[in-house]
Amino acid sequence: MRTGITASEALRIVLAEARALGAETVAASDALGRVLTEAIVSSRILPPADNSAMDGFAVRAADCAGASDSSPQRLAIAFEVPAGAADVPALPPGRAARILTGAPLPAGADSVVRQEDTEREGDRVAIRVPPAPGDHVRRAGEDVARGETVIEAGTRLSAAHLGMLASLGRSIVAVHQRPRVAILSGGDELVEPDGDVSGGRIVSSNSWSIAAQCRELGAEPVYLGIARDTPEDIEGRLRAGLAADVVVSSAGVSVGDRDFVRTVLEKLGCRLLFWGVRMKPGYPLAFGRVGQDERGPLVFGLPGNPVSAMMTFEQFVRPTLLRLIGARRLHRPLIRVQLGETLRKSAGRLHFVRVTLLRRGDVVVAHSTGDQGSGVLKSMIRAQGILIFEADATELARGAEASVQVLDPEFLASEAPGF
Ligand code: AMP
Ligand code: MG
Repeated sequence: MRTGITASEALRIVLAEARALGAETVAASDALGRVLTEAIVSSRILPPADNSAMDGFAVRAADCAGASDSSPQRLAIAFEVPAGAADVPALPPGRAARILTGAPLPAGADSVVRQEDTEREGDRVAIRVPPAPGDHVRRAGEDVARGETVIEAGTRLSAAHLGMLASLGRSIVAVHQRPRVAILSGGDELVEPDGDVSGGRIVSSNSWSIAAQCRELGAEPVYLGIARDTPEDIEGRLRAGLAADVVVSSAGVSVGDRDFVRTVLEKLGCRLLFWGVRMKPGYPLAFGRVGQDERGPLVFGLPGNPVSAMMTFEQFVRPTLLRLIGARRLHRPLIRVQLGETLRKSAGRLHFVRVTLLRRGDVVVAHSTGDQGSGVLKSMIRAQGILIFEADATELARGAEASVQVLDPEFLASEAPGF
């Protein structure tokens, strides 16, 4: 097992173990956020037939040439075509057909005149604006051709994709399975949120934040509860988690007398690949895999401090889960920012500094969220981004540039609609 490695080495080791999960079929209506394992190839054309984009009159453009306000072209109305009409007759020359939006264009017609550009005169229509062929007609197949690959395999499905799947008649799709993540908290001082906090006990907030971090990605948290600081209790609960794809335990992985998680993991057949990452917050991070092949779960022993737990999840568990889900991009948007204040630290560890972000013209200015203690959960609440303060660096001067992982694109939200 390696120890005291850099954050980038740790990430490399972790991702080398992570493979996308296999496929399952799900109802397309439930597939929002899932990643396709199949390419969606259309077996139909969209729209299925030439149809009207407007309420108005279907005509032959040539029959209306020269029409104007002062000298409208009058055509007899042959018939009406409502939306959804079947067996629409052909339009005789020199006639118009009343047509509604979405209704199929009668054979012979080549354009639609908007209702606003006409006057109804009993069984005739006066056309004041001459159409060009194709005006206000949606052509059959203009959106999707038969045999076209409309959505690539590996796409994470959004609302627009679900609409398209419905249009293509695809009510079932094949997607990557969702990872199940077994979550264990450990510590004699921990209670559930409604528990008794007298005598210095604290609520096991990590279980909540970690479960929510899983859900944000579409992974499925399975809660293993709070293990007391005994090897037996930790072992019993962790054993229950071995059926999951990923096990995330927090606390008890440090060097304290009662930090049994690593020894128990090894007893359960977990091959630990590293312990200790030169980062802050979050040094005491352990990672391994249970069993010799790829079927055993990946195991993360996160530090117990709430910020360290969330940050190590963010940097290592999150990209792992995204890989399992089948996503192509595993990392947060990375932007360059300007420091709004000078930051200092000692050399040796990479600091993940929680920052607020402020857009000033084309520049984004980053400020520390304040106290960067690994127990100060408020620093995570306030954080819109995580600033990378490199291991060897000791000072980032006000006005200098740095890279920030964007946690919350909300700082880009605008008070004006832009139209
Ligand atoms: P440990 O790794 O057990 O030394 O824990 C480090 C710190 O994290 C201690 O202050 C713990 O009380 C705290 N801690 C451990 N587990 C949790 C948890 N599930 N929720 C909130 N804080 C925790
Ligand atoms: Mg503890």
